[in-house]
Parts: sequence; C-alpha cells; structure tokens
Amino acid sequence: MAKLAINGGEAVRTELFPAYNTIGQEEKDAVMQVLDTGNLSQFLGAEHSDFLGGPNVKRFEREWADAIGVKHAVSVNSNTSGLFTAMGAIGIQPGDEVIVSPYSMSASAIAPLIYGGVPVFADIDPVTFCMDPVSIEKCITANTKAILVVHIFGHPADMDPIMDLAKKHNLYVVEDCAQAPMAKYKGKYVGTIGDLGIFSLNYHKHIHTGEGGVITSNSDKLVERCQMIRNHAENIVGPRNTEDLTNLIGYNYRMTEIECAIGIQQLKKLPGLLEERLKNVAYLNEQLAQFPALELQPAPKDGSVHTYYVHPIKFNKEIAGIDRNTFVNALKAELPSAILRETAPLIGAGYVKPIYLQPIYQERAAWAFQHPAAAELTLKYELGTCPVTEKMHFELLFTHEFMRPGMSEQDMDDVVRAFKKIFNNINELKSVETTA
Ligand SMILES: *Cc1c(COP(=O)(O)O)cnc(C)c1O
Repeated sequence: MAKLAINGGEAVRTELFPAYNTIGQEEKDAVMQVLDTGNLSQFLGAEHSDFLGGPNVKRFEREWADAIGVKHAVSVNSNTSGLFTAMGAIGIQPGDEVIVSPYSMSASAIAPLIYGGVPVFADIDPVTFCMDPVSIEKCITANTKAILVVHIFGHPADMDPIMDLAKKHNLYVVEDCAQAPMAKYKGKYVGTIGDLGIFSLNYHKHIHTGEGGVITSNSDKLVERCQMIRNHAENIVGPRNTEDLTNLIGYNYRMTEIECAIGIQQLKKLPGLLEERLKNVAYLNEQLAQFPALELQPAPKDGSVHTYYVHPIKFNKEIAGIDRNTFVNALKAELPSAILRETAPLIGAGYVKPIYLQPIYQERAAWAFQHPAAAELTLKYELGTCPVTEKMHFELLFTHEFMRPGMSEQDMDDVVRAFKKIFNNINELKSVETTA
C-alpha cells in the first residue's frame, strides 16, 4: 500500500496555510486620510514645486532613505520602472554592455535593452546564488558600462570585489534589491553601496503597496536624472538649462499619494516582519538539518543579513537516491501548495529558467540587438553560457516559502513532517522518474 500522497496515500496536510497579509488598520486609516483630502496625486510634470510630488510621496521617500541610511530615495511605480530609470540615469546607450545575473526576475536583464544596451550574463556563485565576482570580471570588455547586481532571495551579493572591479574599470553599479529590503552586506544596507539601488513594492514582496518601487542613491546628480526620467524630463531640462540631455526623455513612473501613504505604514512594519521571517528560517533550518540529502544555505557572515524572500535548499540526489524534481513533486503532493488568496505554488523546482534561454534572447527580439552599434558585440545566450546557474536551476536547487510571517511552529512542523515522510518512504519513488 502506497504511503506517499503522490502515489495515492493520504497527504500530511490539506488545510491551507495562513495567508501572508501585511495590510491592516494602519494602512486603512492612512488611505482614508488621503481620500479625505481629495488629492490622490500631486505630481506635476513641469518645473514647479510639485515636480517632486505631494506630501505622502515626499514623506515616504524621506523615511525610506533614513531607514537604510542613504541620502536620497525616489519612489517609482515598480521596481521594473526603477531599473529602467536607473539604466537611463547612468546613460546607457546602444552598444553598451551591462553585466547582469541570469538567475533573477526577468526585468533585471531586460532593463539595459530599453535604452539600447545589451545584457551580458555572468554566472552565479553556487552558495549565494548571486553573481560571482570572478565570472563578472571575465565578462568585462571595452563596452561594459555597468554591473547590475541582484541580491537574489535576499542574500547580499559579494559587494567588496564587485565595487573594486567597478572602480578599476570605471563602471556603474546598480543593485536590484527587490528581494532584499533591509538586507545588509558587512553591516551596510543593500541599496546604499552601489551607485543606485532599486526596491520593489509589488504584492509578492516583503512589504507592498500593490505596485510600487523605490530608487536609492547617495549621488545628487543621478537622483536628479532619476527624478526627471520618472516625471517628464523633457519639460524640465529647458528651465534647468540641463547640459547633458542623454536619455532625458521622460516617462510617467510616478507613485500616487495613496500608495505612498500605504508605503509609510508598510515601512514601519518591515523590521518586525523581517524578524519573524528570520525566526522562522532559523526554526526550519534546525529541523531540516536532520536530512542529509538537503543542503541548507549558510547564513551570511561579517554583519551581513539575509532577508529570505524565499528559502533556498540544494538537493543531493546521490544521497537521496531520487532526483530533485521527483522529490519536489512528492513534497507538493503532501502539502497544500497554495494558500488563501494566492494561487502561486509555494514550492518550486529551481527558481526561474536562466534568463538568456528566454525567446527574447534566443531570437534577439529587441531593437537593441539589431542596432548597428551592437553588430560588433558577441552575445552569448546559449545553453552552457552559465553552467553553475544551469546546474542549480535544472538539477540542484529548490525554493519554498513556508517560512513567511504568519506561519506558526505547528505549521512548519507539518512541513517538516512532509519532508520526513518522503525520506522515510523514499523507496516508493525510486522507480519513478518525473519532471517538475
Ligand atoms: C519582483 C522583482 C522585480 C520586479 O519588481 P516589480 O516591482 O514587480 O517591477 C525585479 N527584480 C527582482 C529580483 C524581483 O524579485
């Protein structure tokens, strides 16, 4: 008689896990206050005192900057538009190369293409899953303009050698901090180390405003360029007699008063939410350490802080006797894979397919690739381009979110019970090979 749920046995748990919901009375009150003013956005796309938005926008930006100890914050309507803004601000042009991670949300790699630059994929480190500085260095050419670092899953990238490379080769460093709000690298908050940092406030992130984003920087000049790109730069450059007009065609990437009022409340909750997440990760790590086939990610050292957007685990198929996909499918069968309000699975085999394998890169389907300035560039987007990333994604890594705030120890015990049950009955899976 089969015991495992994937073979028809009874699942460890069918009751849904608690929803991750950070929105409460504070946000409701803040929204009502904005609604009462009748002023839902005060931005004006002209040289005017409202060029930088209304009171909630300004307060949210000030509080965000202060929270991580950076000079400026510029709110935008998503991390994606923040990345586009950053590429514009640092002056990306056709023929420029930007070194990016292949193991990230797709927007990180798309950003240079918006201004005619092309992404060059550096491989990742097998422990942090962030770009490996050794691989970054190999990607640097005379056309390299910037390194777009991603603190993936909330683990800080190894910034010291990356900043050294940038200094040596005169490159900009942009940090994609979407998954790492309040993560630290050697005591410094991410988003304060490179030239620009970009955070996300979308619904899936640690805190959210529905959609939204924040750009952070210590550079007055880059911040002014970001503010212009966010809000109709073309109307501003005349009155300000701006000399360098590169990329100063403006967009409307503005956040509203309502979103920023929510953001102010969400930011206050972030430290507590992070503490709970880290406590849950510690609990799970302690429990999961009993399974020799699981390799848990070591916590970063030297005053660095990981924010665990997801909890990554490497699966050793030699020790387990089955492959990762078979295991992940069995785990999905033992636990409800989605929670209230959400349909996205909480367990995934790997994270996202290495970005360069997407059709956009395979087909060179962006004008930047066709531009004469790109003709001389070698674009490496084949299978095999980043072997560590491919190994992690296709064979070793799985990620789950059973450590989000709201999960109780009893909830996590069910998760551990599911792991235990599979390892105890692993022979049931040895003959079947499945694909996730
Ligand atoms: C979520 C995410 C983005 C995109 O954020 P949006 O605010 O949805 O545009 C970009 N990069 C990474 C690493 C992300 O996780």
